[in-house]
Amino acid sequence: MNASQDIIAAIATPAGRGGVGVVRISGKSLADLAHTLTQKTLNPRQATVATFRDHDGSIIDQGLALFFAAPQSYTGEDVIELQGHGGSAVMQALLKRCLSLGCRLARPGEFTERAYLNNKLDLAEAEAVADLIDAASESAVKSAARSLSGEFSSAVHALVARVTELRMHVEACIDFPEEEIDPADREAQNTKLVDIRALLAILARNAKQGAVLRDGLTVALIGRPNVGKSSILNRLAGEDVAIVTPIAGTTRDQVRATIHLDGVPIHLIDTAGLRETDDTVEKIGIQRTWDAVQKAGAALLIVESGEINEMGRDEAAIAAQLPAKLPTAWVYNKIDLDEVTKYPDAANTLFVSALTGEGVDALRLWLLAVAGWHPTGEGVFMARERHLTALNVAREHLEASAEHDTQYDLFAEELRLAQMALSSITGEFTPDDLLGEIFGKFCIGK
Ligand code: GDP
Repeated sequence: MNASQDIIAAIATPAGRGGVGVVRISGKSLADLAHTLTQKTLNPRQATVATFRDHDGSIIDQGLALFFAAPQSYTGEDVIELQGHGGSAVMQALLKRCLSLGCRLARPGEFTERAYLNNKLDLAEAEAVADLIDAASESAVKSAARSLSGEFSSAVHALVARVTELRMHVEACIDFPEEEIDPADREAQNTKLVDIRALLAILARNAKQGAVLRDGLTVALIGRPNVGKSSILNRLAGEDVAIVTPIAGTTRDQVRATIHLDGVPIHLIDTAGLRETDDTVEKIGIQRTWDAVQKAGAALLIVESGEINEMGRDEAAIAAQLPAKLPTAWVYNKIDLDEVTKYPDAANTLFVSALTGEGVDALRLWLLAVAGWHPTGEGVFMARERHLTALNVAREHLEASAEHDTQYDLFAEELRLAQMALSSITGEFTPDDLLGEIFGKFCIGK
């Protein structure tokens, strides 16, 4: 994919009202365009107060104009930023003026894509730009910022450098007969491989935590009608998201709420109560419940606490239909109605009261554990599934290389494949369609 010659323009600030709105333009040799738009000669990297005029000389807005000369700009091309008043109509008028002067509307993420193609950012850093914008918690912001500043990429580069060094070492041995290889050399190679694998394991662990922060966990709340599914969701969410009524069958559709526990997004799906019914609408709701369960990463099977010793056929039937590998907690609700003071301490079994909040902290901890969150504090990189897969592929090739430590050609080949997998993270070997997919998910103007 080559950076196109087009001059691209977009409103870089969100739609709606705001103090300031920004139109951003990127392309080659934009000094003349900057002059046409502002009737001024803009000094690079210096804010200039300017009047933005339409083709007939009428005023569109007054604001600040900034000019960044290539290559010292976000995209690596000439960039103009026009900062005007943050209203939809005025921003649209300014953008229209740019389009009439030969710019075309930028695709989502096209500014960042150009930055990547002009080597201003590597692919992992470019992805971190979108992740930073999308970050919904402080922890997510911190880890995305860490990836954006290049910490993740540096760790990957350091690993690639070690693999390359080892590979050269191993390749140098290929042409020699086995008996001519110094055992000390072989020993050194094995030590290096052990070190590389240990470093990769640490990197993968930190990246996995980043992926948890980014993607979180989707949890389906299931159970018979009226056991308190909506109330538990509301208690976790801290607001009235679902309608709670004492009439069985109220939640016929799924309600979603995303809560953040330690910065980890937990997407809660309240589902229609599961029971035998002839009601057509309710039946659809129940089918949706099962669809939601298929897509969920965990389930909370809510049961009324008083029924602990007499678990009905219903719960047993529901539990039997859950996918075997789906992490599921039995959540006994309404313990405020119980006379019991001591509950059994069993795995994946929780006792809560949505009414009083008792036991809900333990439920939160269960959710975090299933999400795979281990609060380590520092070192977490914002990572995506794509990165985890690449790290995993690299791990497999390093593992395989350890099995071929005396067959130097196979050893070297496995190291080459591990190196390729690692390099795909930062974008050295990345097919065009993957780039399209990555940048297509950005917002316009970034
Ligand atoms: P759902 O049909 O499973 O979503 O159940 P709801 O959340 O709508 O709750 C059904 C009824 O049980 C409502 O009247 C709630 O106020 C009540 N309820 C829910 N949780 C508790 C609880 O922990 N204790 C008590 N005492 N009542 C609860």
